Amino acid sequence: MLNIAIDGPAGAGKSTIAKAVSKKLGIVYLDTGAMYRGAAYAALKRGLDVNDASQIEPFLSGLEMSIECGDVQQIIVNGENVTPFIREHKISKAASDISKLPAVRLKLVELQREIAGRTACVLDGRDIGSYVLPDAEYKFFVTASPEERANRRFKELREKGSDLTYEEILADIKDRDYNDSHRAFAPLVQVADARLIDTTALTVDEAVGAVLRIIEGEK
Ligand code: C5P
Repeated sequence: MLNIAIDGPAGAGKSTIAKAVSKKLGIVYLDTGAMYRGAAYAALKRGLDVNDASQIEPFLSGLEMSIECGDVQQIIVNGENVTPFIREHKISKAASDISKLPAVRLKLVELQREIAGRTACVLDGRDIGSYVLPDAEYKFFVTASPEERANRRFKELREKGSDLTYEEILADIKDRDYNDSHRAFAPLVQVADARLIDTTALTVDEAVGAVLRIIEGEK
């Protein structure tokens, strides 16, 4: 099965690149961050502390998650389509916190491997090439400077009417980078066999082109 792993920090352009590459190749796009967001949203909705394994572990045993891959991936948690709610600012931090718990990762990684085992797909996340699919055919590590990532997110959020400042967004990005790359289990890391794509000075088309050239050049 063709699996393409795209890892990297928040806001580097992974999902934009992964969507464009999956479209070009005619394969499925799987946004694994949305799965951690869906779990965080459902836990917060129940009033649970996303940092507390003793509250989250029992919640996980009753957690049913299903993914409908399509133009906009839909995440269904315990029968509720949570897709419209998982992009909220507070869910980003909660997803980063809940994803530190090994029991959460084991459950979601199992689902990711199951989907990747039966469907050719591009997966974006933090640990796809290092942990979820170490044998993925292609691995990319997509990054950009924290300032450039904050700047992109600031513009995007401002268009949606958010009043968060650039400084708040930059602090949040640095905090998530630290959280994601310092957790004990399956942290964000660039593995030796991943190709580095630094999008700081690239347009979306240039970044997508760089990824496709590598895949098409090696076919
Ligand atoms: O990619 P996105 O920003 O939507 O992911 C939300 C959070 O989920 C990340 O900050 C990270 O902590 C977590 N995550 C993860 N492993 C993945 C994908 C996302 O830990 N494969």
